[in-house]
Amino acid sequence: MDKQMKITNSSVVVMHYAVSDSEGTLIDSSYDHKPMAIIQGSGYLIPGLEEALVDHQVGDKFEVSVSAEQAYGDRHDEYVQTVQKELLQGVEELTVGTQLRATTDDGEQTVIVIDVADDEVTVDGNHPLAGLDLRFDVEILEVREATQEELEHGHIHSEGESCCGGHGDDDEHDHEPSEEKTGCCGGGGCGSSH
Ligand code: ZN
Repeated sequence: MDKQMKITNSSVVVMHYAVSDSEGTLIDSSYDHKPMAIIQGSGYLIPGLEEALVDHQVGDKFEVSVSAEQAYGDRHDEYVQTVQKELLQGVEELTVGTQLRATTDDGEQTVIVIDVADDEVTVDGNHPLAGLDLRFDVEILEVREATQEELEHGHIHSEGESCCGGHGDDDEHDHEPSEEKTGCCGGGGCGSSH
């Protein structure tokens, strides 16, 4: 592997990151779990961070400040909605902080329960980091070229295996979240955590 390979579009990048808000309060850190692996240019990262990775290489450690606009966007009050509890039958746990999948006009979306009353539940469809200016501490661990298959699928396949090989001649399998499918191409697994 070329240790000096610089990050370009279509690089696979394995990185550690710690993200803080503008006051320096730690929000999340990959050092607590495993490094994040992404395909540069796939739009998986927020725009401000993806842009900042360009031309970096293995071993680089750097800080990136990203405005809310280049991160998760502004908060939208209209994404906060109150729904009748009876519409959420089948949801096992319904407490503040529970994440639910909701089908909206814009497709599948994750909403977070922010209030639970006797017969109503308030959910927030905003990204938890919407409206926040963020600071990332980034450490680049690995840079390699994405394979053709990875580029076609838009996600990373683990070392030495083709996670989608089981689909046979289904070259155009979709990557929409789907209840029936499991595994990397159905559940958004395969090293990513969306
Ligand atoms: Zn795949």
